[in-house]
Amino acid sequence: MRTPIIFSEKCLNYGTWHIEGPQRVGLAHEFLLERGYNFTEPEPASENDLLRAHDGDYLWNLKKGLVEDPDTPAYDNVYEFARLSAGGALLAAKTSGFSLMRPPGHHAGVFGSALGVYTRGFCYLNNIAIAVKALGKATLILDIDGHHGNGTQEVFQGDPKVVYVSLHRHPHYPGTGFSSEGNCLNFPLPGDIGEKRYLETLDKALGMVAAERFAALAVSAGFDTYAGDLASLGLTDESYAEIGKRIARLSKPTFFVLEGGYMGEKVGRAIDHLLLGYEGTS
Ligand SMILES: [Zn+2]
Repeated sequence: MRTPIIFSEKCLNYGTWHIEGPQRVGLAHEFLLERGYNFTEPEPASENDLLRAHDGDYLWNLKKGLVEDPDTPAYDNVYEFARLSAGGALLAAKTSGFSLMRPPGHHAGVFGSALGVYTRGFCYLNNIAIAVKALGKATLILDIDGHHGNGTQEVFQGDPKVVYVSLHRHPHYPGTGFSSEGNCLNFPLPGDIGEKRYLETLDKALGMVAAERFAALAVSAGFDTYAGDLASLGLTDESYAEIGKRIARLSKPTFFVLEGGYMGEKVGRAIDHLLLGYEGTS
């Protein structure tokens, strides 16, 4: 069975001038449509869903349009866009799907900016954290975005039900994730390290985790590791297929939530390869 893609055109209606703009997701959507995927529309996450991962005062400020930093503008109605993206992650968790929504989430911590980092890195609500909290199961989170998910680490640091594994470029934004801390296993990698060393590191990381402990696998699926993208690790379409195969080998109910990836159609191609590898058809 093909992995359902969670998508709403509404997520394309803000931020046209920003690098985290509608084109990156819009072009990926068009590519995946042509490839014959099935699409489902999400509902916005409820405030109760959001409160499992975020502080109430932070949510109030976000709703009032008071959350802003140089990376992360206070767009009109950004709370509603962020709530719908979080709803995409919730639906992905329910349907073992892939949420192709924006804004991304993994830099957003309990109070917005996370682990002492000044900006929120294009993120408002931590979509994957909200979905993992709603599941309430022992969950392994694998973050393959090229940036460290400081927000996700902050939300789950010390949580006995969750292990967070991140491979990311370092030194690079946000500057966190240089070493592992408790249940958060961090694998910093030099820029453009290439597929071979990336996959060796991924195998090592997954080998350190007792997969049988977990009832679910949540993947923070960022594609800015693609050669030439914002946090390039020199990966190609085939690299994502290889990552997908490794995810499949864990044999867990799995869902995926889009994080970064800024090269439009290449994001679509990378998603397609990841899912082909995952579904065993590549
Ligand atoms: Zn990123």
